[in-house]
Amino acid sequence: MSSLEQIGEFGFIEKLRELHGSPAHGATGIGDDCAILPFGDSTVLVSTDAFAENVHFRRDWATPYQIGRKAASAALSDIAAMGGEPRFVLASVALPGDVSEEDALSIMQGVAQSAESVGASLVGGDTTRSESGLMLDVTVLGVAPCGRVLKRSGARKGDMLLITGTPGRSRAGLIALERGLDMPTVIEAHLNPASRMVQGKWFLANPHVRAMMDVSDGIAQDAGHLARASGLGVGMTSASVAIDPELLPICMEIDTSIPELVFAGGEDYELAVVVDPAESPKIIDAFRREFNLPIYAIGTFTDQFEGVRIDGAEPGPIGFDHFRPAT
Ligand code: ADP
Ligand code: MG
Repeated sequence: MSSLEQIGEFGFIEKLRELHGSPAHGATGIGDDCAILPFGDSTVLVSTDAFAENVHFRRDWATPYQIGRKAASAALSDIAAMGGEPRFVLASVALPGDVSEEDALSIMQGVAQSAESVGASLVGGDTTRSESGLMLDVTVLGVAPCGRVLKRSGARKGDMLLITGTPGRSRAGLIALERGLDMPTVIEAHLNPASRMVQGKWFLANPHVRAMMDVSDGIAQDAGHLARASGLGVGMTSASVAIDPELLPICMEIDTSIPELVFAGGEDYELAVVVDPAESPKIIDAFRREFNLPIYAIGTFTDQFEGVRIDGAEPGPIGFDHFRPAT
């Protein structure tokens, strides 16, 4: 019998997929950012995300409000990742005895505020005592406008991979918190990741956009998920990574390069967007004009190999996996 460490988080999910088989009622189950559920004429998107103390957050680095807000924002990001419209949120919380009533309410206010900021409402949840650590689980429900969604599996050979915003900042913020460094911009990116809900819907409306996901485990790993779901490989280059000056002090601090930090860094909740290569420059221009946000091409999909290559080589185990031992 193999250990979870050996098979990794994604090996485990693959086993679950085999175990559960195809879902009934025309649903699309395990494997994308959300499950896709047909209900009459509507397509409902649903996803759930667990947030565990000392794994996803530390109570000495984030306020209760920030913890709740980020848990909900991370969960809602999976609706953005498919171009959906968020509607409802349910949040379960397991509370250790040392959490005050005021702090417990603040956590839930953070959840509700994050939901409201994207037009969704908190409609329920569950509350329990915890014997070891605070834990939150946020379930999000949304709808797919016109029934169309952007799955991970839509990439075709030759398609370009684009990445929105400023990836790498969340990881930089985490390192700043670990080392007690005063770097407010990257710490804010870690504690309060930006929502890309509006952008997700904007991509869905463009017929030249073929696949999408949100980047929660680092670009190297998540680009691999897009490639595998599409039966392709993806080649990326370090030279295409934008030089974000906010990352420079952290790169010097931990003696790494900006591309290394960006490829490995998780919890950015930026969008990884797969587009028709002929339309890529137009989409990039239009996105910059519409949102005044960075976006750049970072790779190309191919049928020449499987998985991920960065500058022509396999990157090895970088990015976040819950069961991989820390390096
Ligand atoms: P994301 O980072 O977008 O939240 P994950 O990497 O957590 O996605 O999950 C990938 C896929 O595996 C999703 O479709 C998710 O629903 C499914 N999944 C993860 N854990 C489980 C589980 N314990 N049981 C069933 N499905 C799971
Ligand atoms: Mg996701």
